[in-house]
Amino acid sequence: MHVQPFTLGPFPTNGYVAHDAGEAAIVDAPSATTEEHRQVIRYVEEQDLDVRHLLLTHAHIDHILGATALAEHFGAAWRLHPADRPFAEQAEEQGAAFGVPVKANPPLGAPLAEGDEIAVGDARLEVLHAPGHAPGHVIFLERGAGVALSGDVLFRGSIGRVQGLPQTSLEQLMRSIEAKLMALPDETRLHPGHGEATAVGRERIENPFLNGEVSTAE
Ligand SMILES: [Zn+2]
Ligand SMILES: [Zn+2]
Repeated sequence: MHVQPFTLGPFPTNGYVAHDAGEAAIVDAPSATTEEHRQVIRYVEEQDLDVRHLLLTHAHIDHILGATALAEHFGAAWRLHPADRPFAEQAEEQGAAFGVPVKANPPLGAPLAEGDEIAVGDARLEVLHAPGHAPGHVIFLERGAGVALSGDVLFRGSIGRVQGLPQTSLEQLMRSIEAKLMALPDETRLHPGHGEATAVGRERIENPFLNGEVSTAE
């Protein structure tokens, strides 16, 4: 499975096109302008991909700015965990709060649940529920390839923000990181919602929130 990153939008956020054997899943939609939507669409066209799924790790505004435009282009709806559905249904309000115009809420499809498997060519994206940064946050894991699209759970050298956002919990976030990411093999590649890609083993050693340098006790 190839994972193509796109860093877009006013908050620099990573969206991804994950593809295998000519089929693709678009994961998150940070594109904020027509030109940015075009960057994603152009890649899909150049690679001659059949977009089978539109998937959200969670529905914070920086991850859904392009969701309505891409849904219109690909004629599909976005799938996400039901606990984040209210955020997607308030995209216009979220946009107004952050000073970015959002024309319409994105169309939403069948809900995602822990353990769901999404076929992309010969690859299988497994859905892992990882709340804490957002109540309905999920990680998409391709176990065979050792690759995870991990959103805003864990970053290179940092963790997802829990201050100033609704329905967050540092305790829950740390539990999600331990149970869902640190349980994976060290060589598992992590493609986060912000910043550079990393790996489970690297974060286990170097991430100050995981190696004991920073206390995460509440
Ligand atoms: Zn977020
Ligand atoms: Zn984000």
